[in-house]
Amino acid sequence: MRRAYLDYNATAPLREAARAAMMAAMSETGNASSVHAEGRAARRRREDAREKVAALVGAKPEMVVFTAGGTEANNLALKGAFRAGLVDGLVVSAIEHPSVLETAAGCGCPVRVVPVTPDGVVDLAILETVLATHAGRALVSIMMANNETGAMQPWREIAALARKYGALLHSDAVQAAGRVRLAWPILDADMLSVSGHKIGGPQGAGALVMREDLAIAPHLDGGGQERRLRAGTENIAAIAGFGAAAAEASAGLADMERVHALRGRLEAAIVAQTPNAVIFAAGVDRLANTTCFACPGLSAQLLLMALDLDGLAVSSGSACASGKVGRSHVLAAMGVGEALIGGAIRASLGWATTEEDIDLFAIAYGRLVNRNRNTLAA
Ligand code: PLP
Repeated sequence: MRRAYLDYNATAPLREAARAAMMAAMSETGNASSVHAEGRAARRRREDAREKVAALVGAKPEMVVFTAGGTEANNLALKGAFRAGLVDGLVVSAIEHPSVLETAAGCGCPVRVVPVTPDGVVDLAILETVLATHAGRALVSIMMANNETGAMQPWREIAALARKYGALLHSDAVQAAGRVRLAWPILDADMLSVSGHKIGGPQGAGALVMREDLAIAPHLDGGGQERRLRAGTENIAAIAGFGAAAAEASAGLADMERVHALRGRLEAAIVAQTPNAVIFAAGVDRLANTTCFACPGLSAQLLLMALDLDGLAVSSGSACASGKVGRSHVLAAMGVGEALIGGAIRASLGWATTEEDIDLFAIAYGRLVNRNRNTLAA
């Protein structure tokens, strides 16, 4: 049976170039710290990847610290800044990924959580009040784009407020990288987290991109790798795959217009079948590939299972690590009612998504709606 994969925000398909780079790295022996030819070859692969990941976010290669993913990059940013004594409190938004929210809560320092508007965008007035009343120096950690709704955060304004109040600024750009053009000097951030598997690289590879002069505390001790911030022999194959994916993602940014049109087609199909469906954050700037919707009377559990049986891979707005459908803290922070939260489905598209994939979705969704006419709210 033909399947359509519409869950790029969970993980994207591995790009051929990434697979080839990993296979090439895996077929060679060499520790990037060794001085011999084999070691130098591994080092070259690592540094080539560093250049490509830097280019993805418009940064310099020296700014890239490789990690084992976005979660680790977020941990390193928050804990590293606090443990180094650079900041004495954290300011995060209510819609951050758990790797920011839970890390912040476990840091042992004051944490203030800034709410979002009903459109899923950080409330700038409250952010300003929080920063104005913060005693000491804060680290502001706000994501570039939300993973569930795709809502872009008002980055220029956030950066301006952080600067105005002398705060350090970190952004979880895991979902934005490779989908919107990121250019470091314009971003005016101190640290940025990215992840390999959201852009077609391998799972378990990521990076914290940070200002070269920022002396955060190490995350792992016991070796000089990655500016002494993350000790341990590097996973060269994963890093090489990440680099190859970053290069393709940078080159393919223009394709996001096509993806945007496909998302429009998908949302049109939803609205045509269920005119009372709610598309979250539809009124604000969103990632071109993401839609999160709910239809009164249809539960996410039912939708997920029925669509899966019809060949569609989508996720609930809030699939948690156990694979169960949990309650979305993002939608809750937007003030969405429990009934709609329980029906939220996210479809996220990417470079390999085709019109046929969207049509497959439209047919499956139509079938499902027809089967459930009785339970659908008027
Ligand atoms: N931040 C955001 C916004 C994410 O969507 C994710 C993954 O879902 C992460 C961080 C974690 O990244 P990784 O899976 O590479 O640890």
